[in-house]
This record gives sequence, C-alpha cells and structure tokens, in this order.
Amino acid sequence: MKDRFCITQVAATAETLLGIAPDAAMAPPLTPVLRSAGRRLTGPCDRVFLYNPDAIAQWLYAAYCSRFAPLEARADLGLGMGSVYPPVTPVCFASMYSGLQPKEHGIRAYVKPVLAVDTVFDHLPRAGRRCAIVSTEGDSISLIFLGRDVDYYIFPTVAQCNRKALELIREDRHHFIALYNGNYDHWMHRGGPESPWALRALKANISAYCALHDAIREAWGTHNTALVFAPDHGCHRQYGFLGQHGVDAPCDMHIRHFWRFFPARG
Ligand SMILES: [Zn+2]
Repeated sequence: MKDRFCITQVAATAETLLGIAPDAAMAPPLTPVLRSAGRRLTGPCDRVFLYNPDAIAQWLYAAYCSRFAPLEARADLGLGMGSVYPPVTPVCFASMYSGLQPKEHGIRAYVKPVLAVDTVFDHLPRAGRRCAIVSTEGDSISLIFLGRDVDYYIFPTVAQCNRKALELIREDRHHFIALYNGNYDHWMHRGGPESPWALRALKANISAYCALHDAIREAWGTHNTALVFAPDHGCHRQYGFLGQHGVDAPCDMHIRHFWRFFPARG
C-alpha cells in the first residue's frame, strides 16, 4: 500500500483545509490536496463537503471510465487511495473520519458501536465549526458517530438523504457536511459489482455528486469550498453472481477519491 495514499489521511486534510491544526495522532494530510487547494483558493476553506458512496472500487473506475466523465469534469484532482483492513464499511469510515488505523480507533470488524476516539465530528464542533451527517437508517455512518455535537439527518432512503443534502447546501448553515449513499454497495452484494442494478446505482452516485457540485457552485459562491467524492473500499465478484468485500487485495483495498475546490467569488 506504500504507493498509495491512505483514507486515514482524509480527516487531517479536511481539518487543515478548514484552518484547524489536526491532532498529532492522526495520519498526515494529503499533500497533493493541500497543494491543489493552495493553487485554487486564497485562504482556508469555510465549507467542506464529503460525499461517501459505498464500495466504489478503483477497478470499477478503470473498467467504466467513460461513465465517470461527468464527475471528472467536476473535479480538480483524482487520487489513488488505499483503504484500511478489513475493508468493510464501519472500519473504513471510522478510519476516514478519525485519521486512525483500525487497531487505534477500535472498530476492527463489521460492527457498528459508537466510536470512543475523537473524530472530525469532535474536533470541528470544538473549534466552532458546525457539522451535519446525512445518512440512511441503520448504516455505519448513522451509528458510529452518534453522541457528537453534530446535526444528524437520518432517513430511510438514499433519495431522502440526497434531497436533504441539497436543502442543507441551499440553507448554508454548516461548515462540514458528510453524506452517505449505500445504494451501489446494496446492489453490488445482491447481483454482483457489474450487474445492471449495481451499474445503475453507480450512475446514480455519479449523478448525485454532480448535483451536489452544481448546487454548491450556485449556493456557496461566497465561500472557499472543498467537495470530495470519497468511497470507503472496493469490491469483487463472488460465486459468479454476487458481490463482496473484506479481503486484503487490490480489488477491495484500492479506491479513487476526487477533490474539487471552489474559490469564493466577489
Ligand atoms: Zn462500505
């Protein structure tokens, strides 16, 4: 994994962009992101939006590159990232938002306890930054970050989450928003990573990112903003017609993140 950046580095990157010094215990920020932000923005961000589609593998990007064109047209930087082991949802998002490896944050398997260590959802409110989590009921992000000084918007469906996220962008009340979409992962498990249902969900995830991007460009014109397409882990075909993830192999461990920077206008 040495040739790749790690999803643990996303937490310190987001905090640094927001003008907050990350904890020494966290993995260091992503230097290409800070460099790219430095070229495009004057001063720190006052808005960061993390879009978290579940299980979008690097190989999926390579195999269906043309489908990512609308996303890439709305990104300044694409980065090959390594996930953490085991590459399952609660372990990965705990790492992405704490900046810590699984043995350090304590979620080391597919379980969803409230995380005991500090995360961006602790650091940012303490520094006076208002945070929102938008996610579906019962899913990792809805559960492991509970108990923080964060606005939680938890809904039964992905469509309701995405509608709420667009509403929050228009309302412009939060410095940091995390939005989870588990629809690709759902269909990947049930029909395989390249089934028509999974590929339809992939298309929906790319469209959701594009809609968030365009809404941010419209509503957050006075802010320096970073938007990130940040999946947690990859996936692979299992038994010919199902999908799975959780093994220490590139199919599950390698993902691609995309970053966009919006400079404040006027
Ligand atoms: Zn996942």
